Amino acid sequence: MLDQTDIAKRKDDLIAVAKRCFDLRLQTNSGGNLSLRLGERHAIVIKASGVGFNECTRENLQVVMLDGTILPSEQDLKPSKDLEIHLDLYRRREDVCAILHCHSPWATGYTSTGQEIPCLTVQTVEKIGRIPLIPLSENSGTQTAAQIGPVFDAQSVKAAVLANHGTIGVGKTLMAAQHLAELIEEAAHSIFVRDTLMLVLGCERPRLPRHGTHQDELKALERA
Ligand SMILES: [Zn+2]
Repeated sequence: MLDQTDIAKRKDDLIAVAKRCFDLRLQTNSGGNLSLRLGERHAIVIKASGVGFNECTRENLQVVMLDGTILPSEQDLKPSKDLEIHLDLYRRREDVCAILHCHSPWATGYTSTGQEIPCLTVQTVEKIGRIPLIPLSENSGTQTAAQIGPVFDAQSVKAAVLANHGTIGVGKTLMAAQHLAELIEEAAHSIFVRDTLMLVLGCERPRLPRHGTHQDELKALERA
């Protein structure tokens, strides 16, 4: 018998993070999904399929056992269609207590070029280390649990980008997973600005970071 007080609290935690993700425009419409482990650890709360991040409520969230058993819910909805991906990651990684997958536009757009998002900033190096890029499945289909799971077998992997799709991050809390999504989006945006400016300035490769703006760069910007 699962602890109903714990379920209610976890649902409230999920709803709060889902709203934050929506408010930041990392996930609009009804795509993406997020889940977190219950205190008993062998069950999770997950968003229902077809429900937007901004529309999550205690009544439409689903409780699923790690063996795949879906518990009856107040509304007759199905769990996220990516349920198997979530269950697989929880089974593989005891340290993972929350998962957030979103279709954030900068990260998705950047990696649709076929390039991994480099860890450009100090914070991405410190907090993530590397953001693997997982290609589409055969026939350009959505990435599967069999593709995503092995990438996360190394405990050092905290997040990945699914090509032409979105990001997926894991954490001890859902807010930690949300922070990864925000950091990846920030990195993709920053790199786009860098690459665009390099093109404008005619730089073939990034210059080493300096303290303060170099006078030559100021002159080049004035000429542009
Ligand atoms: Zn998705």
